[in-house]
Amino acid sequence: MLETIKSEIKKRDIDKIIIKNPRYDSESKIIENLHLNYPNLLIICEPSANLIDQEYFIDKYGFPKSFTKFRKIVEKNNYVLNPINTRRSLNIFPKIKYCESKVEQIYDIEKFSLKSFIVYMKKFLSSYKETRDQLYGNNISSQLSVPLSLGLVSPRRILHFINVFEKKVISNQSTYWLKLELLWREYFKLLSFYHGSSIFSRKGISDISANSKVDSIINIKFEDDLIQSINNQLIKTGFISNRARQIFASHLIYNLNIDWLSGAYYFKNNLIDYDTENNFSNWMYIAGVGTDPRGGRLFNLNKQKLLYDSNSEYRKKWLKN
Ligand SMILES: Cc1cc2nc3c(=O)[nH]c(=O)nc-3n(C[C@H](O)[C@H](O)[C@H](O)COP(=O)(O)OP(=O)(O)OC[C@H]3O[C@@H](n4cnc5c(N)ncnc54)[C@H](O)[C@@H]3O)c2cc1C
Repeated sequence: MLETIKSEIKKRDIDKIIIKNPRYDSESKIIENLHLNYPNLLIICEPSANLIDQEYFIDKYGFPKSFTKFRKIVEKNNYVLNPINTRRSLNIFPKIKYCESKVEQIYDIEKFSLKSFIVYMKKFLSSYKETRDQLYGNNISSQLSVPLSLGLVSPRRILHFINVFEKKVISNQSTYWLKLELLWREYFKLLSFYHGSSIFSRKGISDISANSKVDSIINIKFEDDLIQSINNQLIKTGFISNRARQIFASHLIYNLNIDWLSGAYYFKNNLIDYDTENNFSNWMYIAGVGTDPRGGRLFNLNKQKLLYDSNSEYRKKWLKN
């Protein structure tokens, strides 16, 4: 990573970079190294794409131990910030032709991601709550995770769009539920802002030393047909539903006794919507070393098959692949 940044700085003769605030030791080390090697390089650290002002929140409340507490504080005080005007805020660059066109390109990328979300919103959002927990199917959820994880779209703007949709078209449990999921994302971002690199440790943010008999997922042959199918879909497409992620993680941790960290790194290497905080915090949650008040989640495989793939449609499709 460091070498790539250095080569870009050299190749493009860069004198200023803007990055999201570092959270982890590895990121701070990269910045230190850049300062040392390029004393004239201006490095500006900005808060990353968040719904709330994290520093203010932590100063005032500390880190809430449960999502419910967090949600209530944010909703009661209306802490979600307004979206930033992309065009205006990108004008920090000098007005030369090259930069003007870059600003337009970034603006267009967000517009493109928003367009596909608007299509989803108009057709499917009003039934999101009924579909989002399913194992498979077209349009069961918003698929915002890809543009969000790549930083192509602002979560604040998405929330703003949903609010307008609620005012002008329909406001129901489903429209609220998508906002709730965006708040889960925000909660996990706050968790890592507060706990830093501990999200990469076996104990997570708990005092429990999770005991696993198998260190690594590599070379494990999955015998269960549902787990094999989920794995095939993940490897072939890079995307699986939230339900599939939960079932897979729970099976690895509780039935196969595999170290949860190894599972988290496996997702990191295979998901197209990989997001550090969402991924590691969800794995910690299921492993019982994160913020789950119930101390971890074990999903019964047979019950999941009966509830979410009773006619084996999903397994038939993905076992073939
Ligand atoms: C073990 C495990 C690993 C995961 N790894 C990732 C990951 O690397 N990247 C990622 O973006 N999400 C991850 N998730 C969360 C969730 O599964 C995905 O965000 C979601 O399935 C993506 O599809 P969507 O955008 O259609 O979701 P929707 O249901 O439409 O939700 C909209 C947005 O809300 C946020 N969101 C939804 N569910 C969660 C959740 N449980 N935790 C945090 N934020 C959420 C996401 O930003 C998502 O894009 C993981 C979940 C589990 C159980």
